Formats: sequence, C-alpha cells, structure tokens
Amino acid sequence: MITLTLADIVDALGGRLVPGADGSGPTTTVSGISQTDSRLIEAGEIFFARRGEETDGHRFIGQAIDRGAALIVAEREVDDRVAQIVVDDATIALGALATEVVRRVTELGRLRIVGITGSNGKTTTKNLVRSMAERLGPTVASEKSFNNEVGGPLTMLRVTAVTETLVAEMGASGVGEIARLTAMAPPHIAVVLTVGLAHAGEFGGIEQTFRAKSEMVTGLPEAAVAVLNRDDPRVAQMAALTRARVRWFGLSDEADVRASRVVASAEGTRFTLEVGEESYEVSFRVLGEHHVMNALAATAVALELGLDLTAVVEALEATTVAARWRMEVMGGRDGTVIINDAYNASPDSMSAALRTLAQIAKPEGRTIAVLGAMSELGEFAGEEHDRIGLQAVRLGISEVVVVGAEARRLHISAINEGSWDGESVFFENADDAYAYLTGTLQPHDTVLVKSSNAAGLRTLGDRLGEAF
Ligand code: ATP
Ligand code: MG
Repeated sequence: MITLTLADIVDALGGRLVPGADGSGPTTTVSGISQTDSRLIEAGEIFFARRGEETDGHRFIGQAIDRGAALIVAEREVDDRVAQIVVDDATIALGALATEVVRRVTELGRLRIVGITGSNGKTTTKNLVRSMAERLGPTVASEKSFNNEVGGPLTMLRVTAVTETLVAEMGASGVGEIARLTAMAPPHIAVVLTVGLAHAGEFGGIEQTFRAKSEMVTGLPEAAVAVLNRDDPRVAQMAALTRARVRWFGLSDEADVRASRVVASAEGTRFTLEVGEESYEVSFRVLGEHHVMNALAATAVALELGLDLTAVVEALEATTVAARWRMEVMGGRDGTVIINDAYNASPDSMSAALRTLAQIAKPEGRTIAVLGAMSELGEFAGEEHDRIGLQAVRLGISEVVVVGAEARRLHISAINEGSWDGESVFFENADDAYAYLTGTLQPHDTVLVKSSNAAGLRTLGDRLGEAF
C-alpha cells in the first residue's frame, strides 16, 4: 500500500480512532497491506475484522496483533495493544480504504486499471493479462479468484506508488456488485467476456446476469476502453450502453482482435491471430477453443496498455496453464491425457470442455468424461444437467462417468438418449469412481474431469494425473 497516517485512514473510513497502548495515534503511519485472515498477517499490516458467515474476525484480533498487525479495523473495541479504528461495517470500510488508495495512486498519473468480468474465463484472462502487463512494468493482479467485495479491495490495496497496472477480476453475485467494485477502482480498460448461466441461481436468470455485468461498461467515461466479445450477443449489446471506445474481440470478421483457423489438439490450440492488417500464427498451449477467446481478450487489453503484438504473442506462447485446474493437462504416461477442469463448472464451461474433449481425442483411444454436479444453478439445475447429458451423447463421448447424487440427472439423460455407441456409468462418490477408472483406463484414452468445486472432483483429477 502507499503510506498513510491513521488520521488519513480514519478520514477515508469514517470511523473512530482508538489510540494504541503502543503509543500509536493520528500521526502514526502505516504502509502494510490489508488482510482479513489473521493467519496471513505480517508485521506492519492492517487487520480488518469482518463478521463472516462462518467465523467472526473479531475473535482473531489478538492473533493478528501477536503476528505484528499495525492497525485493527473492527466493529467494536477488542484489544488496545495497537491502534484500532472502530467502524459500523468492516467490509464497507475495506472498500472505502481501497477507494482512497486507488484514488491517490491514480492521481500520481501512472496507474492504469483493467477490470475483467464475465460468466466464464475471468481468472484465466486475468492471469494472461498479468503476464503481459508485467512485461511493461510493475503490476498488481487479483490472487486466485479474489473478485468480490472482499477480494476486490484486498487486491486494490496492494497497489503502491510504482504500480503501473492493476488487473482486477470483478465478479458479481448480484446486481450492484460490479458497480461497487468499479467505483473503488474505475477501469481505464473494462473487459466483458461472456454472459452465461454461471451462478444463475443467485441472479435469477440470464437477463439479470446481463444487467449485473453491464455495470462494467455503463459507468465508463469517454476516455476509457470497453473490450467486448463480438461473438456473444449479450456482450455485444453492451456497446450501446457505454460512452467508452469499444474494442471488439472474437472470431467474427468484425472483431478488432480476431482469431481464425483455430485447430484444437491435446497439445494446445493453434490459431491465426489477426489485428488490423497484421497476423501471427500462435501456438497456445492452453487447451480448448474457448480459451482462445480469453487469449483474444487479453491481447486486446495488452495492445491498449501499449505492449506490441510480438511481445503479446510471446506471452501467449509462454503460457502453459492459464490457471490451475482450468483445462489443466496432467498425466501423460502411455499417451493417456488427463484434463483436470474441476475448479468450477457452469453449463457453458461444461459444454466447452466436452466439445474440446471430443475435438482432441486420439484416434486410437477413447474419450472419457468424468462429470460431477454444476452448483449454483438454482431452479435451472435440473434442465441444465439434462442438457449436458444429451450433449455428451451427441458429441459421441465414449464413456460418461457421473459422480455424486446431485449430478445423477446427467447420467439419466445420457442413458435415455438411446442411440449411442458409448455408455454412462454412475457412482455415488469420487473414491468409487477412482477405483473404477484405475481399472478401466487404457493407453491413449483422453479423460476430462469436470465439476463445480463443491462436487470435489478436483482431487480425483489430481489422483488420476499422478496415476496415469
Ligand atoms: P469464477 O466465477 O469461479 O471466478 P472465472 O470467471 O474466473 O470463474 P475461470 O476460472 O477462468 O473463470 O474458468 C472457469 C471455467 O470456465 C473453467 O472450466 C474454464 O475452462 C472455463 N472457461 C473459461 N473461459 C470460457 C469461455 N469463454 N467459455 C466457456 N468456458 C470457459
Ligand atoms: Mg475466477
């Protein structure tokens, strides 16, 4: 973080400063980053005690101080060894501090903010943009999927006076959240990847998702750039909602940053990257055509940041795994390919992963889809699982291995489809599925492991990756 006095921080947070027994008061300065997990606190950092769903951060204030916290932001006075700021709501206070820090750093004139949203592909695109922006100068990017009202500000609070690019993943669990995140860190470059059914249960449908994601572009000033997916009809509609300059990416001829001649294989995806009159052949080692879209979005951002196209291509080709457990290739003995994509799952990402599996299969081996439930779909859950079961059959997947009661409809819809050379089998849990798979896998088989995080197939994928 930049250096602030406790008085500055109180001004930003609107709370009440309680001086510490260590002598700290209004003129004391802090520059450490903020944490909400006391176990991560290091000397000089700020601990925000939030009341979470499972635990209350106020219980860990003592531990945070023991670990060297310089300041505690909390909703009541707990431990006076160091200074405390008492606020009504620690989560709102965290956002207020992020807003102030980003504002001050932006005033220095060097910082460019990239905001990334979409139903699928945010983390992947964020990681690609980070690797490109780092070639230009000091970059701060979200850790993992830090993209909500807590992870967003925690990321933003890591910017310093020398940061040139802030790459912030911005998720929405409802209408209003992206507006709040963009108010904290107003993007110079705002990316919308897709509008799909991911987390649809929370939104109440795709139109609500569209509204929520649109907040990414509605507030942009004219000087900003909106990087939009030309091939996603709902994202394309957002061009009419923004004053910003639009840069399109996609397979469409009308896109400014395009891909053509996309060829997927188990080694990765080759495509021709076209920008204006320039074109490059790219070997992108991240599996699946859908990740080409993320590569195009990242390219559009990097070009806006001032990176030249050759450096962009270098960065793309240097990437092996855009993010762990997203189409991550494991295994490889005897020509077996294990793709672990069990970080999360929405209907769109399931469908994209299955299509990739069908495309990259080896002629001498089978295609095996090990599938668990897609969570967070609410009322759409039943029909969406049915649809994925049907799709697996229509793609001619050799064997579908369905794991867990919540995914059972996927299995039923596959076996009911009839005319199919393949088969579907069902297991109650991952251990049983693992035992079955270790007995049945053969050299040259290509295996996709995919589910929502809650269904827990990630470990099954890792175990298969070690065994084959
Ligand atoms: P979250 O909401 O969990 O933070 P995210 O938007 O950050 O997700 P990623 O973690 O990058 O997305 O990818 C999630 C899943 O979506 C992975 O399985 C990935 O392979 C898949 N995916 C990525 N991009 C696309 C796309 N354009 N279309 C369909 N699926 C995609
Ligand atoms: Mg993410």
